[in-house]
Amino acid sequence: MPPKKKKMSLKIKIYPDPVLKQKAEKVEKIDQEVLDLIKNMKETMTEEKEGKVKGVGLAGNQVGVLKRIIIVSTKDGPKGFINPQVLRLGKKKEIGKEGCLSVPGLWLEIKRPAWVEVKAINEESREVEFKAEGFLARVLQHEIDHLNGVLFFERLGLFERLRVKRKLNKLIQGLKSNNFQ
Ligand SMILES: [Zn+2]
Repeated sequence: MPPKKKKMSLKIKIYPDPVLKQKAEKVEKIDQEVLDLIKNMKETMTEEKEGKVKGVGLAGNQVGVLKRIIIVSTKDGPKGFINPQVLRLGKKKEIGKEGCLSVPGLWLEIKRPAWVEVKAINEESREVEFKAEGFLARVLQHEIDHLNGVLFFERLGLFERLRVKRKLNKLIQGLKSNNFQ
């Protein structure tokens, strides 16, 4: 009997790791490697920390893999999407609180389009197109941004961004000293 596969938890890249500023590449072929990566990313995202699931979304960049793959938490559990593309964005915007596994400790109110229409390939290698609203729309936009090297605080307006800059710098210093301990 083959040994039971161990859970594979991936290391999450923390800002200002340069991989977070890079653009992920399109997945040309959905092979076992891609499927394993999706499985491991799901496990990494849903790992529990202090009794709570770690995250609600995860993008390839965040585990150091520059492939256009995202995991998002849905009402049916975590789902993996390959080569997700934004087809349309709602005109109406909504403000909501966001955090990021790659920028621990920073929570910001971010304004984003209230709905999004996405085209992607699902884990069964099928092309899917769907419209998402509310929280899911927010998570999808946040994760697709990651694939384009965009971080959530870059979605703030100029003035708000200046306001959080100090906080962000402090956070970076703290993270740096933690990383090198
Ligand atoms: Zn994030």
